[in-house]
Amino acid sequence: MKFLTAIMFEFTPKCNLGSSHPWCPHNADRWAGKDTTRSLDDSSILDLAVKFTEEHGFRGVFGWHYYNEPLFEAGRLFDLVRLIHRRVPSARFVLWSNGSLMRPYMAGPLKLFEQVIVSDYDKRGEELKAICPHVELVYPSPDARIDDHEEPWPGQSTRPCPRPFTEFCIDYHGYAHVCCNDWRGKSSPGNVLTDPLHEVVDRWQRMRDRIITSTVMGDMPVACRCCGVRDPLLQTWDENIASECITYSREVYDRLVGV
Ligand code: SF4
Repeated sequence: MKFLTAIMFEFTPKCNLGSSHPWCPHNADRWAGKDTTRSLDDSSILDLAVKFTEEHGFRGVFGWHYYNEPLFEAGRLFDLVRLIHRRVPSARFVLWSNGSLMRPYMAGPLKLFEQVIVSDYDKRGEELKAICPHVELVYPSPDARIDDHEEPWPGQSTRPCPRPFTEFCIDYHGYAHVCCNDWRGKSSPGNVLTDPLHEVVDRWQRMRDRIITSTVMGDMPVACRCCGVRDPLLQTWDENIASECITYSREVYDRLVGV
């Protein structure tokens, strides 16, 4: 996992803006037909953070967003970050938030995060910069990912997708996702709360190497075959790791596809 720039833990499933954003998969039955008896608690997150770092070579940032709002449970989040940092001093953190619950008393704990990014739906930009000077404001547009597409989109690209270098998302019930666009987990490499972690990581790595190199739809996981995004850019949380990802992609391409 040394070529991965971020691991996201959906430590809470709650979002204060969920009902006002009907386009967001937060509002869908995300775990239909899946076992939801287990969920991410603080000790399982700490255990996973240690194993990802010490056994699987992860060097990127730990994040807390998926289809939730991390500051909905701000006190627990800040305690979790401190807990992980005490056990893994090299651990790095990113916070991506909708910003609407950010308050002046959070100014101190927000320094725990090397990156703070706010989707500034409420247009509180100046107020947020006063609370957290290193905040980065973004203004996302709604997309159609909630549409549960079962077939390739008309004219869908077959290019390789570097998205699996960007993130490895673990949802509230422990299911791993190749990226946030596969919010139903159609191509989940497994569940980190019920499956041995090395098996989940191994499945994910084999899946990733196909996604970053193949131009053949049949070689792609089903989620990617039906994906309307097919991200053309390597979005990154760490420029140094990202540059290594490009080199690694070429090596995998030569190995799997040939020169
Ligand atoms: S093709 Fe789509 S679902 Fe697959 S990794 Fe890329 S963005 Fe995610």
